Amino acid sequence: MSAPGLFSDTSLSTPRLRTEVPGPRSRALHERRQRVVPRGVGSVLPVYIEHADGPWVTDVDGNRFLDLGSGIGVTTIGHTNLAAVTAATEQLDRVTHTLFTVTPYEGYVRLAELLAERVPGTHETRTAFANSGAEAVENAVKIARRHTGRRVVAALDHAFHGRTNLALAMNHKAAPYGTGFGPFAPDIHRVPNSYPYRDGLDGMEAAARTIAHLEQRIGVHDLAAVIAEPIQGEGGFVVPAAGYLPALQEWCTRNGVVFIADEIQTGLGRTGTWFASTHFDLVPDLVLTAKGIAGGLPLAGVTGRAEIMDAPDPGGLGGTFGGNPVSIAAALAVFDELEHGTFFADARRIGAHLSARLERLRARHAVIGDIRGIGAMQAFELSTPGTTRPLAGAASMVAEFAAQRGILLLTAGSDGNVIRFLPTLTTTDEQLDVAVDVIDEALSALR
Ligand SMILES: *Cc1c(COP(=O)(O)O)cnc(C)c1O
Repeated sequence: MSAPGLFSDTSLSTPRLRTEVPGPRSRALHERRQRVVPRGVGSVLPVYIEHADGPWVTDVDGNRFLDLGSGIGVTTIGHTNLAAVTAATEQLDRVTHTLFTVTPYEGYVRLAELLAERVPGTHETRTAFANSGAEAVENAVKIARRHTGRRVVAALDHAFHGRTNLALAMNHKAAPYGTGFGPFAPDIHRVPNSYPYRDGLDGMEAAARTIAHLEQRIGVHDLAAVIAEPIQGEGGFVVPAAGYLPALQEWCTRNGVVFIADEIQTGLGRTGTWFASTHFDLVPDLVLTAKGIAGGLPLAGVTGRAEIMDAPDPGGLGGTFGGNPVSIAAALAVFDELEHGTFFADARRIGAHLSARLERLRARHAVIGDIRGIGAMQAFELSTPGTTRPLAGAASMVAEFAAQRGILLLTAGSDGNVIRFLPTLTTTDEQLDVAVDVIDEALSALR
């Protein structure tokens, strides 16, 4: 059985609104915040959360929202999952920090062992831990460069890899991630991805197009790594055509290029498997984890082929908080929950239920151009009816409408025209139905 959340009101099916959204207490906090927090740190919905449980977040005005974003795919096994909270709490009483690179501890090793068993492939691996997804990306690039002795990193169109200086150079979107933040890291190239809804290419055709760019615009002599999200997150849950990723990996292997799978959003149960790479028969050289790995505590990992990971010299990798014992304890509990709970089946159930419900919506709303995703990572793209042209503004209107009904929805896509679902895996079909009915109303109100 899966552990319940701390407040165990997970079985409730409907949101509960006690005030307007945001309520008076949230508005007061928001005023205080604006005097001390820069506007560059935004908030999708400025309701200030007081507690959270399973799929629910409750704000300081007592409004309870159905959270279909999970803090962008972080609380995958539910908010305040009891097993993760208990493990972290017990660890707090033993030791909070010694720094693994000063005096190590077992949890770090144990989590590396668990990742070694679970990443795709049968090769020997090593894992280094960091604090955030962007840091995992940075470390992967360092490792790939050290291993290959080459400079260039290729990222895909519509990619998102983070907000640190190196990572933001890999993002598709300049605004808001990069605008005005230059000079940017050199030797980052972007190449076309596979986007079946928009490009109409099969996996082989899309891979041939990507590879032609890699060969003509960079050349294998200088190319250290190709980095790809198996399903693009910020980019709008773009699921590549079958065969695309393995063809790219095969080309990389043949040319001594490190293939990095950024599984920061897709990994650890989200798509109904440990890693989304599995759905595409992809065996990456390096796999990046973060977001859902520690049930809400900050942690990230780079797991990869031993001979690549061992390229940097001692002291070349690390960082003060990387692999913090409390985060690691929570992560070990997350792995245990995923292993022994019903979460993988729940992710598949959520995917089947949501996609079927969205298909029925599409029959009534011609603006739904594409529905896509795997497991509990589903999205629909809003287009001008009869075309694949992005419909501007509609997705954020749907999200705002839903917020007023107590449903927390995230948008995505380089054109901002995608609604994405990243529910906790504790979300029931009935709760999803409530959300889809609200979206139905929102889409009707668009006309
Ligand atoms: C969120 C995300 C990142 C960045 O992770 P942070 O923890 O925010 O630094 C990188 N890659 C992908 C695919 C992500 O979704």
